[in-house]
Amino acid sequence: MCKDMTPLELAIQFHGHICPGLLMGVRASQLAMQHLDLKRDQDEDVVAIVETDSCGVDALQAILGCTFGKGNLIFKDYGKAVYTVINRQDGRAVRIVQRRSASSGKTGQRYRELKGREDLNPAEKEEMEQVLQELFEQLMTCPYEELFDWQDVDVKLPPKASLYSTLTCSNCQEGVMETRAVETADGVLCIPCFDLQRR
Ligand SMILES: [Zn+2]
Ligand SMILES: [Zn+2]
Repeated sequence: MCKDMTPLELAIQFHGHICPGLLMGVRASQLAMQHLDLKRDQDEDVVAIVETDSCGVDALQAILGCTFGKGNLIFKDYGKAVYTVINRQDGRAVRIVQRRSASSGKTGQRYRELKGREDLNPAEKEEMEQVLQELFEQLMTCPYEELFDWQDVDVKLPPKASLYSTLTCSNCQEGVMETRAVETADGVLCIPCFDLQRR
């Protein structure tokens, strides 16, 4: 990964577009780095627990280096814009909660109105650009306090990603990690095959 890119550039490149959700993730990542004294090259020692799977999480992956593949991104499907970031080196953790008022201003509302429509006329497209620009300025420059509430928390660290052996599903014959395989009377099954059998 190119270390010379700014956090914002990294996030945009990874996510593929600029949107308010991504920008909130950029700010949350920067807040976490500042609060926990994280360095960019420390990424193996950073763990993020995210309670949503929307745009902002891509910023955390790109900036903090917390990714599914490395096992230091933990997804809880709660539908909440909440990010807990942990520094493994000293065990400190911060839970960052996006304020509901953060994007509820006039500009944010207009963005959502326009975003929800497929049939924008040229004037509205131009307005959309304008609105996005305003949101960009607003979200990237306002104090963290306007966007988030945060506090230090105690988090029991998940074990570092380990290697498990692979078993063979007796139905589909595909490999399945032992911790996800289901033992049945008819042999080992992967979860989808197990679910099929129960129907
Ligand atoms: Zn997005
Ligand atoms: Zn199977």
